[in-house]
Amino acid sequence: MKTNEKTSDSNVLIIGGGPAGSALGCYLSKAGIKNTIFEAANHPRAHVGESMVMSSVRVFDEIGFLPILEREGFPRKYGASWHPPVTKGQADISFDEFPQEGITQQYTYHVDRQKLDLLLLKHAESLGSRVYQGVQVSEVLFDEKNFTRGVRLRIADQEIEVPSRMVVDATGRQTLLGKQLRVKKNDPIFDQFAVHAWFKNVERGKEPSTDYIHIYFLPVERGWAWQIPIDHEITSMGIVAEKEVFKKGRMAPGEYFQKYVDSNPDLQHAMRNAERINDFKLEGDYSYKMDTFAGNGFVLIGDAARFVDPIFSSGVSVALYSAKYSSERIQYAFEHNDFSEAALKPYEKKLRSGTEIWYEFIRLYYKLLPLFTKFIESKEHRIEILRLLQGEVFDRSEVPVLDAMRKYIKVVEETPNHAFASMLTDIPIS
Ligand SMILES: Cc1cc2nc3c(=O)[nH]c(=O)nc-3n(C[C@H](O)[C@H](O)[C@H](O)COP(=O)(O)OP(=O)(O)OC[C@H]3O[C@@H](n4cnc5c(N)ncnc54)[C@H](O)[C@@H]3O)c2cc1C
Repeated sequence: MKTNEKTSDSNVLIIGGGPAGSALGCYLSKAGIKNTIFEAANHPRAHVGESMVMSSVRVFDEIGFLPILEREGFPRKYGASWHPPVTKGQADISFDEFPQEGITQQYTYHVDRQKLDLLLLKHAESLGSRVYQGVQVSEVLFDEKNFTRGVRLRIADQEIEVPSRMVVDATGRQTLLGKQLRVKKNDPIFDQFAVHAWFKNVERGKEPSTDYIHIYFLPVERGWAWQIPIDHEITSMGIVAEKEVFKKGRMAPGEYFQKYVDSNPDLQHAMRNAERINDFKLEGDYSYKMDTFAGNGFVLIGDAARFVDPIFSSGVSVALYSAKYSSERIQYAFEHNDFSEAALKPYEKKLRSGTEIWYEFIRLYYKLLPLFTKFIESKEHRIEILRLLQGEVFDRSEVPVLDAMRKYIKVVEETPNHAFASMLTDIPIS
């Protein structure tokens, strides 16, 4: 980029070209709103988060990306399996049990994120987004009335200002604007930590669950492991537990990883011939929310707005829906020439209510792990649990299964000799 004249006719500057930023670029271009995406990295770049929930399919369909997912042969994900902590066995769900409105296929996808994110960014470009990679935005600029007026970025050792009508923070866990505005709040309960890598020769389990996501409960508080197929050969494996568990263990990542692989019989079996093909990566400090997702001339989308624990693979779906819902309000803002916080706030309300449902589900899940398996296996609650697991959290005024979980937990708390009593954790629930 030589000067800022190329971008100055863009109405919306999107900072970050991950799934949230690229999907928003697609929606805006389809609505005829000129937009530019600044991405700090040069894609393909590695990224954690490789398994998607069903609701993502709806957004991919709307932005015309499904044929690309099919053409590229990303592994199809038809369901999910959960394995208990100290005994063998698994509880499965299959997505075809609960057809979702507007989704005509019975599977979603596992993805190599470097490949997915590059394709999605290219797709946004093909629909009309201007895309600049290797461009790091350092600051969002505000005018004297406290409306955004553009961004400052660094390019080839030069700082330049790029003006625009609206700015979108899609910087993921970098949370550029959240930090700048000091509206970021770390989660008071969750402080999880992940150690992960890719492996060959993982035994992926019995049919039909070989291409499901497999979650292994670990015999340590809030501990679990993921198994996600990346292609027919490679499998992503990750160990997640409280950061304290990792710190107290004082082990090298590989040693720590192996310790917890050996702690679960099914996981140990799956990994018995596994061969690691890349370095272990560590991820921590990742649960937080912003006090605000929308203000005068700006919105925050995807991880830049809110991050909930990844146990249910919700992240990319939230990123995609935040793009969809924010694009609706951005269109409204252009149609009414009103870029005020009030005009954009309905987006925040919608996204916040959906992410709060995810959060509550996750919190109740960690409060009493066996309850989740019990509900999945119960005729009464299975479909409602499945609905949540598929990412149907938006536009819902009530979620009765969460009340049922709360009631059940209360009974266990009040019954000292209940079979699950010793498995209650100290997580506060409302
Ligand atoms: C341990 C772990 C496991 C996970 N597992 C899953 C899973 O299985 N399934 C799932 O759906 N989700 C999972 N997630 C969550 C998932 O990774 C995220 O929710 C998802 O990537 C969010 O997309 P995004 O576009 O908001 O952010 P990102 O994908 O992080 O994209 C943000 C982009 O912004 C760019 N950027 C940052 N700062 C700047 C700047 N200043 N200027 C320009 N560009 C910038 C970055 O380079 C990046 O490309 C997991 C997360 C963790 C931590």
